[in-house]
Amino acid sequence: MLIAVDPGHGGKDPGAVVDGYKEKDINLNVALKLRDILTKNGIDVIMTRDKDKTVDLQQRCDIANKAHANYFISIHCNSFQDPSASGTETYAYPGSVDGRNLAQYVQNEIVKMLGTKDRGVKYEKFYVLKYTDMPAILVELAFMSNPHDLKLLLEKDELFAEAISRGLENFLKTTFTGEEMAIQKLKMKGIIDKIHDTKSYVTWGEFASVIIKVLEGMK
Ligand SMILES: [Zn+2]
Repeated sequence: MLIAVDPGHGGKDPGAVVDGYKEKDINLNVALKLRDILTKNGIDVIMTRDKDKTVDLQQRCDIANKAHANYFISIHCNSFQDPSASGTETYAYPGSVDGRNLAQYVQNEIVKMLGTKDRGVKYEKFYVLKYTDMPAILVELAFMSNPHDLKLLLEKDELFAEAISRGLENFLKTTFTGEEMAIQKLKMKGIIDKIHDTKSYVTWGEFASVIIKVLEGMK
């Protein structure tokens, strides 16, 4: 299982700026913490950026597509002229069933764990949702322009990361069986070369080549 984590903006593009706080920094904070949590839980992660640098939207899609990531999670913060606007919303590409489901699980956990206003799952043809090959979501964690939300974004970054991770893992549990997850992991480690049906049989030839790969990997 490979998850592409995309911290929005970066480098020359700060995203929203409120009271001197830049969206690009909050996005990266949460994204790096999400990477660490997922990695600890045995899920592989590829980042579209892991420091403050400029990455254009097509590059972000290319990184995920070339790595054949299974899912793509873009992390952003919202902002609006009216400071009373607040809460969390998660976007999926119109018509993407997997995207919609993943978005709903992540949305639910953030609202539950952070107590943010539930603005729901929405559908937009955002660039990174459109040009990624895999189901993709874009999370607007909360509003930087709302004082209460901004405080959460600055102080509870770890909790936002934990919520996204739990939402993703709840989604994966409903989508894949334990056996399917195990096959995904073997493929990620290069021990098998494709995703096999969990009920299909293994020949002695395939069994031998798997054992050799495991032994060679252990040297
Ligand atoms: Zn943004």
